[in-house]
Amino acid sequence: MGTYSKEDILRLVEEEDIQFIRMQFTDLFGQLKNVAVTASQIGRALDGEIMLDGSSIQGSVRVEESDQYLRPDPATFAILTWRPQYGKVARLICDIYNPDGTPFDGDPRNILKRALRQAKSMGYDFHVGPELEFFLFQTDEEGRPTVKTSDKAGYFDLGPLDLGEGTRREVVLALEKMGVEIEASHHETAAGQHEIDLKYADALTAADNIMTFKLAVKTLAQKNGLYATFMPKPLRDAAGNGMHVNMSLFQDGRNLFYDESGERKLSLLARQFIAGLLEHAGSFCALTNPVVNSYKRLIPGYEAPCCLAWSESNRSALIRIPDPRGQGTRAELRSPDTACNPYLAFAACLAAGLDGVTRGLTPPPAVAGNLYAMPLEELAARGIRRLPVSLDAAVCAMETDKVIMEVLGPYAARYAAGKRQEWEEYRTQVSQWELDRYLANC
Ligand code: GLU
Ligand code: MG
Repeated sequence: MGTYSKEDILRLVEEEDIQFIRMQFTDLFGQLKNVAVTASQIGRALDGEIMLDGSSIQGSVRVEESDQYLRPDPATFAILTWRPQYGKVARLICDIYNPDGTPFDGDPRNILKRALRQAKSMGYDFHVGPELEFFLFQTDEEGRPTVKTSDKAGYFDLGPLDLGEGTRREVVLALEKMGVEIEASHHETAAGQHEIDLKYADALTAADNIMTFKLAVKTLAQKNGLYATFMPKPLRDAAGNGMHVNMSLFQDGRNLFYDESGERKLSLLARQFIAGLLEHAGSFCALTNPVVNSYKRLIPGYEAPCCLAWSESNRSALIRIPDPRGQGTRAELRSPDTACNPYLAFAACLAAGLDGVTRGLTPPPAVAGNLYAMPLEELAARGIRRLPVSLDAAVCAMETDKVIMEVLGPYAARYAAGKRQEWEEYRTQVSQWELDRYLANC
């Protein structure tokens, strides 16, 4: 993203013939929202005078106190490349403020900023590199999404097998133009599945980039007659969509996870951070894996984790330490999926890791074996806990974890209540599986 001042933006709106500015923000449950203002309002918009009715936003304020203000972050100014190039559309990512000028506690971007300030006060910058997976499916005659693909390609395959190749290329080019750096893009294991890896950035920029990324993928897929979904597990017998998060702590541009003389060339800080992640990963699951369907991905056999364990290159573990060392040293958390609210997920991961640092926790021994093949008795004997198996279990775990509840702040309970409601809605359905299994047998 750029480093624009207000003056730069006023000038660019004029010079680039920008007619609309979308003021964007993300709600508590990870939904991207926006209000478009016309170019004539850009001064007011930059001064934080654009209002919203918070009571109409899920998980936000009550109707009696609903006025809120959008304060744009000038560094996030970007032209939406997929909108018309005459009378252009730009966007600004905003923070939400209360009428008394204080930041709104239920604004996910504000929650992450608060966590990042806490890390900074300890001397750390939190860097994050997300790997985003998604499916590109066909639509039916009425334009509705299906789970069909005529793509027959697999991991790292290339055209003409890979029908989404064109869309992937357009997404990468559009994002690069908007200042989002892309590291790699490729076809993933399942037919119709793709991955795009964003270059690591400070966690706030990374979360902003993820929201931009999802919008770009959905929009450009639709332009090409496809439907993009980040649903964690759309197909029972195929790999799900993960969002692996590569994390490290930096100080003055130096990666503090690297230590030439440390065990596995990892610093003590890195080991403590990993221990903190393992300690809390079961309870921040409600944030990193936020929907009922998330838990259908966290099963053995599809390179998604099920157990709270770490390893060097073992893809069945929750945390992996990918090969590069030096500035590239990082811990890859493999549980998150792309349905998550990245602001809340990153705030929780950071708080978990830093809790490990503050308490000087030691991680358990790294696990080399295939965790999918390990019998439950062996897992128990080794003291390896399992990730929650449902959204309900994850929400219960979150509610009893002080570190995670505190990092979310006053809106933690609102989040938990929203997720519990979602679970109740699911729990009270009678599915086809139940009818097939029980109708004749009971
Ligand atoms: N799709 C897998 C998941 O659900 C990950 C595959 C990979 O290792 O990139 O997390
Ligand atoms: Mg992948």
